[in-house]
Amino acid sequence: SAKAEGKGRSQIFHAQMDTEYHYRQRLKADLRQAVVGGQLHLAFQPLVDLETRKVVTCEALARWTHPEFGPVPPAVFIPLAEEMGLISQITAWVLHKAVEECARWSWPVAVGVNVSARDFRGIDLPVLVDLALERSGLPPDRLEIEVTETAVIEERDRARSVLKALADRGTAIALDDFGTGYSSLSYLSALPFTKLKIDRSFVADISVNPRALRLLSNVARLGRDLDLKVVAEGVETEAQLDAIATQTSVQQVQGYFFSRPLSAKDIAELIERFNG
Ligand code: C2E
Ligand code: CA
Ligand code: CA
Ligand code: CA
Repeated sequence: SAKAEGKGRSQIFHAQMDTEYHYRQRLKADLRQAVVGGQLHLAFQPLVDLETRKVVTCEALARWTHPEFGPVPPAVFIPLAEEMGLISQITAWVLHKAVEECARWSWPVAVGVNVSARDFRGIDLPVLVDLALERSGLPPDRLEIEVTETAVIEERDRARSVLKALADRGTAIALDDFGTGYSSLSYLSALPFTKLKIDRSFVADISVNPRALRLLSNVARLGRDLDLKVVAEGVETEAQLDAIATQTSVQQVQGYFFSRPLSAKDIAELIERFNG
């Protein structure tokens, strides 16, 4: 009967929730160890300039290979790290590691580092950036800090002063996942962004849906009007790339079409191949 079915489903649901709960508890317990014990590493994904077809930036993306469960996606462990107060340690590590790798690349490609809302309070980002750049010898304009709409809204005042201090050094400030957060656009002019990364949800349908393409094109124009470098994220197919290149003012693209995130060794080779 429908009732019995409903009961069965609810039992399955509870069993899943239970497993999920224990999985998360286990991950939380292990994440702290992973951070201090060097179980994290970085992957890098290129951003390609549409005019020159050269790599201009590589985004550093955190990776965790759990000794038992294998790879845990950052969409899972980054929020856990935020909950646990571990995110600042991760950000500091990513920053140091990312600029260290970037300084080795054979072309003056920039490196992108993601920061969380909590990093505007948990650490002194400008000081950390100075230290990392000094240690690696990398000039400030080879670093791009990526921050989401949600993060700048959650920590509006702190975000403003921290991002201004970074921008004053010549570091690029990218607004990440644009279009997925709040609909208020006022912070676009209030904060010192130099780059707009349009979320991949704006790219997904452009090769089959003319209205989706017009929307992307208009969002890109908004960014260009504000003198921002405009990036389209999540470009997976040649059809999407062609539409973007011919019908929008997007300047840089990132996505599986050019490359998935790669190991430090493989990204160095890719840069050589594209830019050499
Ligand atoms: P994000 O900053 O928007 O990073 C881009 C994500 O999109 C990456 O997922 C990347 O692998 C994925 N991606 C790139 N190209 C394509 C594509 O063509 N199609 C599709 N479907 N996906 C694509 P990833 O590495 O799993 O990271 C997920 C999110 O986790 C990141 O989104 C970012 O918000 C967060 N994250 C990753 N590393 C860090 C970090 O070091 N610090 C912080 N605070 N967050 C991080
Ligand atoms: Ca990002
Ligand atoms: Ca993004
Ligand atoms: Ca995202």
